[in-house]
Amino acid sequence: MLGERLLQNGSISPDELQAALEDQRASGELFGDVLLRRRLVTEDELAAALAQETCVPFVAASGMTPDPTAVALVPEPFARRHLLVPLGFYEDALEVLQANPLDVAVIDDLQRVLGRPVQVVCATRSDVLQLIEAGYHGPVRSLEELGLSRRTLNVFHEALGAPSGLVLVAGPRGAGTTTTVHSALSHLGRRARNILTVDDMTVTGPDPDVIMVGEIGSAETAHLALREALAGALVVGTVRAPDAAGAVVRLLDLELEPDRVAEGLVAAIAQRLVRLICPGCRAPASEPAGALARVGLVPDPDVALYRGTGCERCEGSGYGGYLGVFEILVPDGAIRALVRERPDAARLREAAVAAGMATLLDDALSKALFGRITIEDVVGTADG
Ligand SMILES: [Zn+2]
Repeated sequence: MLGERLLQNGSISPDELQAALEDQRASGELFGDVLLRRRLVTEDELAAALAQETCVPFVAASGMTPDPTAVALVPEPFARRHLLVPLGFYEDALEVLQANPLDVAVIDDLQRVLGRPVQVVCATRSDVLQLIEAGYHGPVRSLEELGLSRRTLNVFHEALGAPSGLVLVAGPRGAGTTTTVHSALSHLGRRARNILTVDDMTVTGPDPDVIMVGEIGSAETAHLALREALAGALVVGTVRAPDAAGAVVRLLDLELEPDRVAEGLVAAIAQRLVRLICPGCRAPASEPAGALARVGLVPDPDVALYRGTGCERCEGSGYGGYLGVFEILVPDGAIRALVRERPDAARLREAAVAAGMATLLDDALSKALFGRITIEDVVGTADG
């Protein structure tokens, strides 16, 4: 049980456990709430222990943006009452962030009502409440607000101006891909007559201009997306892949014909979310040569790198908010020819760089040189 796990972890002592259990019997609260009230554990420790206890992944969710189409499936009062928030979709399953994963019954109810599997990820209660606010009340951010460099933004706008074809948005989970897709759709909303999500496609009606497919995770979804892209719609979908080249290779792995991918692909954009340095306490920092070397830099007294020293505003963390780091692959003739040969990701990446693509690492480095992110987060981008 939870108390024993915290005891094993060394988070609480046997006496503290005993006192908390007696407190719980008297108050009737959830055990976790008793521990928090008595300040025996932090929210992070509690959520991590709950995640371990229930074998669900624990994530630091602050800064994530819930997928609005997922949020729309669960009424807000229900989300608040049960301390959960829909995050997005993983293949057929709805992914839900839950503060109390011991409450299995509520997930069973949700699966029954929605008629689809629900996958749980655990986070702290504060993160869940923050995401409830973001999910049910948050505005859609414009592409300009996401942190794309002017050059990447121009290339992305141009790609979204294509009358038809496939636009992929790639990144690992929590990289902000859903936010980018929604910003792209809101940008496209200015010109499109009809924007459909893939779930609407069984409904007969006028041909859609723009189709959002959510996550392209199965061969079935991939085929559908490419078919519509080649039939005249602009199709936007996310792919779980580390970078732009990896996203294209993922489509080939999902058994799409290379010729058709080469024909239909308009652009693949890849991203990461990195922590922004707190503007309240940003200061120049000398960085270890080892960290610099890992991202191809040498120490240079004329080049300032920064970090947050910690202040009241950032509660001592040195960070405030998140920033997207991006790369965008737009195939030219040579890259289309290469796609027809089923390249591996490394080869395709090389060709894209040769054609002028600024990589995730390039973008992260430039953001570090502008004093927006730390060198550690640049290294993190390089490590994938
Ligand atoms: Zn600060």
